[in-house]
Order: sequence, then structure tokens, then C-alpha cells
Amino acid sequence: MSTATDTPLRAVDYKSEIKPIWCPGCGHYAVLSALTKALAYLQLPKEDVAVVSGIGCSSRIPAYLDTYGFHGVHGRALAAATGLKAARPDLTVLVTGGDGDGFSIGGNHFLHACRRNMDITYIVMDNRVYGMTKGQASPTTAPDWTHSKMTPHGTGVRRFQPAAMALAAGASYIARAYAGDPKGMTRLLVDAIRHPGFALLHVLSACTTFRPEQKAWKQQVHAFDSATSHDPVAAAARLQADDGLSLGLIYAEEVPSWKPPTDEPGSLRQIEEEFAI
Ligand code: SF4
Ligand code: MG
Repeated sequence: MSTATDTPLRAVDYKSEIKPIWCPGCGHYAVLSALTKALAYLQLPKEDVAVVSGIGCSSRIPAYLDTYGFHGVHGRALAAATGLKAARPDLTVLVTGGDGDGFSIGGNHFLHACRRNMDITYIVMDNRVYGMTKGQASPTTAPDWTHSKMTPHGTGVRRFQPAAMALAAGASYIARAYAGDPKGMTRLLVDAIRHPGFALLHVLSACTTFRPEQKAWKQQVHAFDSATSHDPVAAAARLQADDGLSLGLIYAEEVPSWKPPTDEPGSLRQIEEEFAI
């Protein structure tokens, strides 16, 4: 990885030499592109950015970026990112992943990351399916989706509501973007990264292989109303009327973040002093 120079960084400078292996038309290409544009807009030095992921198609993103990255264990990206942010609060910590990784295997980490409200940006590429493992229903799949051999009669289970769960659990920034709207997505990425607290950017990112019908999202997405987003009650009302395809800012408020204690026995500072690290 090259380090900071006086020359402004371009979006392409944030890309690694590894080429994505996603299927043609996969929404994740647009998310990767928007993320590099957002980083370039913010002119974040590459060595100050760490991108953490779990497992899944979208969790490959750290390999495609020329920042620091950690491609970890299924569902545990937020746990790893929390530890990293506690030890290195100076870093911009981004977490990338999908709906299965984040809301099923990692669901409990998601709730508690929202509660802690540490300054981490969580970008979830939701395609309502497990893509990497060949198309099983995920927590955000509709109960009557019958196209998986694992659930030929549908899941029969109500869908997980990421934005509503994040609001209830204490996330201080919640927004939804669509991979087919690169400009809107880039704007929200910049906004989410700048937000000083736990930011959930819920991205509708179509899986063209196992959910080809999601191509119709292009005609179906629409904007949330633009009323104030600082009031959690108003945000809850906005989500009550949400059909899952509304885009834009849902809630943003500056509230205190959890920080690790610095002066107590066993604190990070004491460990660093003891081991001279
Ligand atoms: Fe994208 Fe779906 Fe292919 Fe995975 S399986 S790369 S999510 S289109
Ligand atoms: Mg998925």
C-alpha cells in the first residue's frame, strides 16, 4: 500500500490490483465503485482507513481496496471492528458485508454494535439471499419466497427489519441506499463515514444470479420523505410506513459513543505500557 502524498487521491487510487470475481451485473460492483469515490471525496489517507468484513460475496470488498483490510470469520466483522476501533480510535473503520453475515450469523453483534455507538460505518449490501452458498433464504428474504430448494414452501418467517432494529438498538445514523443509484449512494456513504457514531448504511444491492427479479428495483425504489431526521420518534414513524424500498436518510443524531476505559487495571493503555507496545 502506498502512503499519503501531496497529490490528491483519486477514486482509482483506493482500488487494489485484485479484480472482483462477482457475477456480471452484481450490485456489489457499484457499491465498491461508490466507496472508492466517497473515500476520494473525503481524501482519507489510505493508511488511515481499515475495512473489515466477514464472509460472503460482499465481504470480499477489503481485498479489492488498497486500504488496510481484514477479511475475517463469518458474522464476526463487527466484533473485530469494535476491537480495532477500541485500540486504534484514530483509524476510520468501515465494515462491509451482506444480509446473511450481518443479520443472521452476526445478528447479535449487530445489535450490540448499535448500542455501543462507536464511530464505525457499517455498509450492508442486502440482496435478501445467501449468494455465495448458492441462493438460500436469508433473514431479509420475504416469507413467501419459494425459489430455494431449502425452503420450497417459503420461509414462513417474517423478515428481519435492519433499519428498525438499528433504531431500536441505539444506532445514531441510519440510511438506505440503492446500488443502482450511484450518486445517491456515494452521497450517503460520505455522510455515513463523516457521522461521529455507529452508522448503518443499508444498501439494496441486487443479486442478479439468484434474485434476478431484483432488477425491477430500478423502477420500484423511491425516496423517504425529507422531514427532519434528528427525532427518533419521527424516524420510527418513517419506518412504520416503509416498504423496504424507500431510500435516503432515516435518522442521524450525535449521541455519546462507548469508549474503552484508559486508566483502569487491564486497560489498553496499561497493557501497552506493560508490554512496551
Ligand atoms: Fe453477486 Fe449474487 Fe453473484 Fe454473489 S451470487 S456475486 S451476490 S450476483
Ligand atoms: Mg446476501
